[in-house]
Amino acid sequence: MHTAKSIAVVAHDNCKNELLDFVACNFEALSPHNLVATGTTGGLVEKLFNKMASESSGNHKLKTVNRLKSGPLGGDQQLGALIAEGKIDVLIFFWDPMQPQPHDVDVKALLRLAVLYNIPTASNRSSAEFLISSPNFNDEYKIKKVDFTEYIKRKL
Ligand code: PGA
Repeated sequence: MHTAKSIAVVAHDNCKNELLDFVACNFEALSPHNLVATGTTGGLVEKLFNKMASESSGNHKLKTVNRLKSGPLGGDQQLGALIAEGKIDVLIFFWDPMQPQPHDVDVKALLRLAVLYNIPTASNRSSAEFLISSPNFNDEYKIKKVDFTEYIKRKL
C-alpha cells in the first residue's frame, strides 16, 4: 500500500452529516490521499473538500472525488468490485444501524469483500478516528494478502 492511498468513503443518508464532519475535522490528514465514493456521498465530500481547500491558508489543491453510482443504484457493488481488483486501500463506511436500506444486500456484499480482502474498514466515527490516526495511514503499509490458492485449486 503506497503512502498516498485510495480511500473509499460512503455514508447512508442519516449518517452523511457525521461523515462530513469527520472529513472536515480530518481535512489535512485526508488531503494527500485519493478519494473514491458512492455518488451522493462523493458529491457532498467533494464540495466540502474544495470549500475548505479554497478557504485554507495552506497550499491545497482542489480535489476531484472519484464518484461512482449512488449506493442504491449500484455504487456499493462498484466499490466491492474495486476492492476485489485491489484498487481500494481503506474503506470508511458509515452505514445506518437504525434503518433498513433498499440495497441492504449490496451493503452486506461490500462489507463482506472488505473483510475477505483484509481492507482496513471503519463503520463509525470512533473507528474512523482510530484508523486515520494510525501511523500506517500515511506510511507505506503492506496489507497481508489472503492466499486463495487452495480455494481456487479445490477439487470438485
Ligand atoms: P450515496 O450511497 O452516497 O449515493 O448516498 C450511499 C449508500 O447508500 O451506499
